[in-house]
Amino acid sequence: MQLVFATNNLNKLKEVQSLIPEHIKLLSLKDIGCFEDVPETQLTIKGNAIQKVDYIKEHYGYDCFADDTGLEVESLNGEPGIFSARYAGEQRDAIDNMDKLLHNLENKPNRNAQFKTVIALHLNGKLETFTGICKGKITTTKHGNKGFGYDPIFKADGYTKTFAEISLEEKNRIGHRGKTVRFLVNFLNSI
Ligand code: IMP
Repeated sequence: MQLVFATNNLNKLKEVQSLIPEHIKLLSLKDIGCFEDVPETQLTIKGNAIQKVDYIKEHYGYDCFADDTGLEVESLNGEPGIFSARYAGEQRDAIDNMDKLLHNLENKPNRNAQFKTVIALHLNGKLETFTGICKGKITTTKHGNKGFGYDPIFKADGYTKTFAEISLEEKNRIGHRGKTVRFLVNFLNSI
């Protein structure tokens, strides 16, 4: 069985392929000849994940899944959320994004936040969605140099280290994306 993962991020593709049952071969957008930017213009993380799979199904005809992730900060009413990648501007720079977030949280005692990943799946004429959440807190300064994005300023609840200070294996075990992929895999194994 072949299934399109609507991404061109080869790291994500490799990571997810290693978690998917062996009989399912993942294809990237490049593999199906899709070189355009897939639209992500919805107002929710789930809406964006669904928009991506709807677009691929409609324009390319393939069963597929797509993920979308955002960081939601409680005292900022869920921001940056769908704007996580471009919070500080279209340059999509992780340092700028973290600096803006730390600035916006100055003098705010509530630093609760969560990463949310939604995976949408089109399979055999049905649409399914899976959501994984990792709750934690935004630190006051950056720590660590592993990972990407907001990892240096996010500590998962119960952890004394940021996501940028723990191994990828550990992050996958407790993190939002790992959790969501496991929900997807359980579903694929059950059909
Ligand atoms: P995407 O939907 O996976 O591309 O994620 C959108 C944005 O959320 C990224 O550009 C990052 O800024 C942020 N982000 C997503 N996943 C993570 C993560 O695991 N750690 C830190 N930041 C993340």
